[in-house]
Amino acid sequence: MKILVPVKRVIDYNVKVRVKADETAVDLANVKMALNPFCEIAIEEAVRLKEAGTASEVVVVSIGTAAVQEQLRTALALGADRALHIDTDLNLDSLQVAKLLAKVVAEEQPGLVILGKQAIDSDNNQTGQMLAALTGMGQGTFASEVKVSGDKVQVTREIDGGLQTVELTLPAVVSTDLRLNEPRYASLPNIMKAKKKPLETKAADSYGVGLNSKVKVLKVAAPAVRQGGVTVASVAELVEKLKHEAKVI
Ligand code: AMP
Repeated sequence: MKILVPVKRVIDYNVKVRVKADETAVDLANVKMALNPFCEIAIEEAVRLKEAGTASEVVVVSIGTAAVQEQLRTALALGADRALHIDTDLNLDSLQVAKLLAKVVAEEQPGLVILGKQAIDSDNNQTGQMLAALTGMGQGTFASEVKVSGDKVQVTREIDGGLQTVELTLPAVVSTDLRLNEPRYASLPNIMKAKKKPLETKAADSYGVGLNSKVKVLKVAAPAVRQGGVTVASVAELVEKLKHEAKVI
């Protein structure tokens, strides 16, 4: 079985983001970029399925500028076998990404597609769901456990207040939650080996998908600056402030 893992290049989660002065976008100048953490979890899960003998090949795909090849090489160092870069300078919305991925699914015929549940830059949380709808595959989102057996995959999903387990017939789409696994680090020998693994680039406009975004970002604003707190000397003073200043009790 082949597993397809779509991965996104995003700002490293350790970076404190700055908004551009004109509030049109986040400032990406000289900012450290990385694999979306949920995509790292997706790669790890796919590689574990390969190591267990359940999968035979792990293919990673990323849509974006040539810069995404850096993240594809990281994915190859983490154990993926082959990478596809879909080249575009355009700022695509989730539906366009999902439509391009649906074309890749048609070409590659994977048994399983494992995506991150969301990209930490735009927090859309919709590409996996859209891909499942476009391809007619079943979907198991927010996975905290994935078990493949025969032509079925059981996905334990993190839902409000508990867990839900669903069974999907393969091929299927799974999106990863934080607790699914702990991704490995790429070792130096594997980073070296990854340089020789196949990485193919195709132009996004060669897929015949309309690439004009229907979503326009109007404004990006930083969160309001938090006001400093006060230390109270006693419970009585706290109650007094909650009653008369905050007026919450
Ligand atoms: P989102 O719906 O944008 O929050 O992203 C959810 C998941 O979709 C990500 O974790 C990736 O697995 C995949 N994805 C989103 N954008 C891209 C992209 N440009 N290239 C490849 N995969 C993507």
